[in-house]
Amino acid sequence: MSVAQATRVRLRVSGIVQGVGFRPHAYRLATDLGLAGWVRNDEHGVVVEAEGDPEAIDRFVARLESDAPPLARIESVAAGGVVPRGERGFRIVASERAGDPDAPVAPDSATCDECLAELFDPADRRYRYPFINCTNCGPRFTIVRGVPYDRPLTTMAGFAMCARCRAEYDDPLDRRFHAQPNACPECGPALRLPGHDGNPLAGAGAALREGLVLAVKGVGGYHLACRADDERAVAALRGRKHREDKPFALMVGSLEAAHALVELAPQDVQLLTGRARPIVIAPRRASARVAPSVAPRSASLGVMLPYSPLHHLLLADAGRPLVMTSGNVSDEPIAYRDEQALERLGTIADRFLLHDRPIETRTDDSVQRPVTVAGRRRALMLRRSRGHVPESAGLPVTAPRPVLACGAELKSTFCLAKGRRAWVGHHIGDLANYETLLAFRAGISHFERLFAVDSAVVAHDLHPGYLSTAYALERECAVHVGVQHHHAHLAAVLAEHGEHGPAVGAIFDGTGFGEDGTVWGGELLAGDLGGFERAGHLRPVRLPGGEQAIRQPWRMAAAWLREALAAPPALPAVLAGSVDGRRWEAVVELADSGTASPLTTSVGRLFDAVAALCGVRADVNYEGQAAAELEAAADPAEPGAYPLPATLDPRETILAVTRDVAAGIPVAAVAARFHNGLARATAWACAEAAERAGVDVVVLSGGVFQNGLLLERTSAALAAKRLRVLVAERLPPNDGGISYGQAAVAAWRTAEAGR
Ligand code: ZN
Ligand code: ZN
Ligand code: FE
Repeated sequence: MSVAQATRVRLRVSGIVQGVGFRPHAYRLATDLGLAGWVRNDEHGVVVEAEGDPEAIDRFVARLESDAPPLARIESVAAGGVVPRGERGFRIVASERAGDPDAPVAPDSATCDECLAELFDPADRRYRYPFINCTNCGPRFTIVRGVPYDRPLTTMAGFAMCARCRAEYDDPLDRRFHAQPNACPECGPALRLPGHDGNPLAGAGAALREGLVLAVKGVGGYHLACRADDERAVAALRGRKHREDKPFALMVGSLEAAHALVELAPQDVQLLTGRARPIVIAPRRASARVAPSVAPRSASLGVMLPYSPLHHLLLADAGRPLVMTSGNVSDEPIAYRDEQALERLGTIADRFLLHDRPIETRTDDSVQRPVTVAGRRRALMLRRSRGHVPESAGLPVTAPRPVLACGAELKSTFCLAKGRRAWVGHHIGDLANYETLLAFRAGISHFERLFAVDSAVVAHDLHPGYLSTAYALERECAVHVGVQHHHAHLAAVLAEHGEHGPAVGAIFDGTGFGEDGTVWGGELLAGDLGGFERAGHLRPVRLPGGEQAIRQPWRMAAAWLREALAAPPALPAVLAGSVDGRRWEAVVELADSGTASPLTTSVGRLFDAVAALCGVRADVNYEGQAAAELEAAADPAEPGAYPLPATLDPRETILAVTRDVAAGIPVAAVAARFHNGLARATAWACAEAAERAGVDVVVLSGGVFQNGLLLERTSAALAAKRLRVLVAERLPPNDGGISYGQAAVAAWRTAEAGR
């Protein structure tokens, strides 16, 4: 047998390859294949040199990617030949610290099966230790202060590893080799339950079983927890949190417990059990044993599985599903610093379960909703945060200069882009809140440092009143790019699917600043990443009293009835119990005169009007409530549809709704006929616009398309017309996706300007 000439190869691996066990993986693989060389981290990812038999080298290169550790996300492997050196053995060498830090940080990941087995093994030294983790699981983004991802640059810096943890950390063959948050009861973070002597976990479990409200410090912030089956406990939590109706999320101890509460398709199970562990919104079972106050008037429940060892222990000890909601008072951001939590949640929680591992970046739970779009099951991203951030998304165009996109105002996010990569930040929330605005600024600086983005192009919404716009205009940069709100919605969906258009988009949402200065929100756009034309829109109507109409859907009922009838409408009987007759007349007058009542084409507001006319909701106490309850009320088996032409003039629809409600037709049928009519008209309108524009791709996006019934019906109607339907999946269809869309538009326009 002849000995093949040794060859040597140098590989540069980029993507999420640090802090995920990639170097031990390379080490084991090389050792198995009898190769020599080394592997190391640097600011751009991982570099490997391997030397030996050419066939073994080929296998090494192939398996390096195909057998990568579970948390790794390889974006590229660049290989080049180098001269063999006759090296012996394979080594892991120390990190290099020069140059640009652009090696991405991994998202936080749910406890892996191996750690879980140790957690519940009485013989293990980490038995019931709430901070157990390894290279395959545990906190990442939420504890990172800088790059390269190494312990001194995380919030674990203050904990010195004991000898046994250190030995694991230093052993390339150990599951905890270079696991930066590695810890044990001897040397790591510890729990505390103020006011309780003895074991904090035992005290917390007892408090939960008793029906008390427990504030729990989690991975990305504080939760408020209580038994989900105890109406008294849940109602107390609602009252103290000042949260009237918005559903609470639930955490369940096992998949079986989830199945007992909601209906899950096989794909939904994957979503629920995946490493990101989002809150999954699914249809609730009639037999679900949860207190009525968990999710009033909702046909679904939001459930998640435990994602940290602490959650696993709490759920096991409580022995039943828990409400697990953000630790905040109504619209404030989630608390994540201990002093702040103790102060702000002091009037809500009966007990505090604290620990001493600091949270660097506040990160809410992500929320996903499975839907069937054009025959395929997909998980709409309603809130993208813990478990997904800071994973990058691609761009279909190379940004010639680094971009910062500042997003919208509600459900605010920011986005950085460099080359063909974009990093969308964690969900920040409503920027009108001072503390959220600080989080927005701090988040941008943190990301600019982590990904070494020196923003030269700053993109923003056209709304002059958005604080994100004000921030963008304050920033010194080479170019400012203003992007129309609904164009950003369209661009976000195109870009996440790797496309740049042209396409037609039906973009339906609550509000967005239009190019003509009016409030848009029911837009048919024809365009690409560079620009758009308004191909159609919902018939405009007055928003009587402006902002007030958003909180009081009955005002939209008055405005639409005034529009549909030639005369001032009388107060419908269905609203008589909730609206005063004189106020109704005054609002009709406002709509008539236009005083303090801007014009809007918002489909969100049309939903409000219909919800009010059905008697579903006259006033709302959270954003999108009327539309959510109207969807929940609709009977999916109802085949009827109200008249609505492709011009999207809903006056006939409004009259039909009013007639049916007055005739005593059940709300379930009325709500469904409204959805069906809107879906059919939207599909017609899109098909006509697509034909005029000569395209066959239709984008459905905007916050209104979080409505599963409307999305499924509209996409089915479009698919029947042989149109290709694109919807938002990796990024939210709501304003959480706006920053990414702005970044795509800014990248496209600056690339074009350079051509
Ligand atoms: Zn693990
Ligand atoms: Zn230790
Ligand atoms: Fe929007």
